[in-house]
Amino acid sequence: MTLPPDVGLASRAIRTGHHRTLEGEHAEPIFATSSFVFRSAAEAAARFAGDEPGNIYGRFTNPTVQVFEQRLAALEGGESCLATASGMSAILTLCLGLLQAGDRVLASRSLFGSTTQLFDNYLSRFGIHTDYVTLTDLTAWAAAIRPTTRLLFVETPSNPLMQLADIRALANIAHAHDSLLVVDNCFCTPVLQQPLNLGADLVIHSATKYLDGQGRALGGAIVGPATIVQGRLLPAMRTAGPCMSPFNAWIFLKGLETLPLRMRAHSAAATELAHWLAQQSAVEQVNYPGLPGHPQYALAQTQQVLPGGIVSFVVRGGRAAAWRMIDQTRMISITANLGDVKTTITHPASTTHGRWTDEQRAAAGIAEGLIRVAVGLEDIADIQADLAMD
Ligand SMILES: *Cc1c(COP(=O)(O)O)cnc(C)c1O
Repeated sequence: MTLPPDVGLASRAIRTGHHRTLEGEHAEPIFATSSFVFRSAAEAAARFAGDEPGNIYGRFTNPTVQVFEQRLAALEGGESCLATASGMSAILTLCLGLLQAGDRVLASRSLFGSTTQLFDNYLSRFGIHTDYVTLTDLTAWAAAIRPTTRLLFVETPSNPLMQLADIRALANIAHAHDSLLVVDNCFCTPVLQQPLNLGADLVIHSATKYLDGQGRALGGAIVGPATIVQGRLLPAMRTAGPCMSPFNAWIFLKGLETLPLRMRAHSAAATELAHWLAQQSAVEQVNYPGLPGHPQYALAQTQQVLPGGIVSFVVRGGRAAAWRMIDQTRMISITANLGDVKTTITHPASTTHGRWTDEQRAAAGIAEGLIRVAVGLEDIADIQADLAMD
């Protein structure tokens, strides 16, 4: 089925990519097959030579995975998408395909922990160095670029402080220096923010989070121009092998169908929770881009469609008070995962940022009383009841 070019986001999320087989199935089929059969020796030769399109082997392409790829590309407004086994393997595939010894990465200091470890502990062993700057400091980004800087890497909003990077400004800085801007769009998803339309070159996803939306499977993706995604990244993935399983692709493409609906609901619930938290006497500070007091409220209004589903806040009384609030919850799940219909709560200073030194945490603003909540889709009154302190 070919969609008219101007259909809306929700229609793309539900309809893009599925080409019905002769069986006339309504839901997308799972192609559980590791290899594909050729009609003749000549066809096999043509496929292997790249003279003829078509499937060869499951590590290269799979029709169910391709439906997911086409659907996510259509949502992000990108030409091409490559699905991977996890969010981290998307970032690894990006680096394998685009970097070589002597190249540098310029990244925000506020990155997902495993991304920082990949850059510092593994890429470094292959002669690729990463420089870090403060997410919101555009002058620092521009000053830190070197002639060998190939990639600028950023997450916005950041975890767990919900600070924003100005994507358009960073894209201009990257392009003035012949670098590419990569945005990890995990927190917003294309429903709330479309980095490619703001000038970014590539978008990274952990499909494990909101794209699935119900905490069932690990997956990832890279979206961007076909010259990069098909030309540079697909060959790296075909060779190295971190491909997405067709079963997981099916879960994610079912997740995409309800993504616009869910993201609006997550954001509405988080907005309500953020306003409520700001009125609680136990709460010292609330970090949420949808609150007018957020330092980048104006940027959030233009760069994002809605503020998103994640709220962090500082409770009075430091770690003891934060742990007490977490331990008194009855419904909310104590886990560092996010992007689930189930609300989750975490204490960054003792979990995701637990291995940092006190000085590093203080410099980054990770207070002992800081709590992060990824707001799910339960009744908001029950989420509030769980977080109420006497
Ligand atoms: C979870 C996450 C990742 C890594 O994704 P996995 O699917 O767990 O490998 C990368 N970036 C961000 C922002 C994440 O939240």
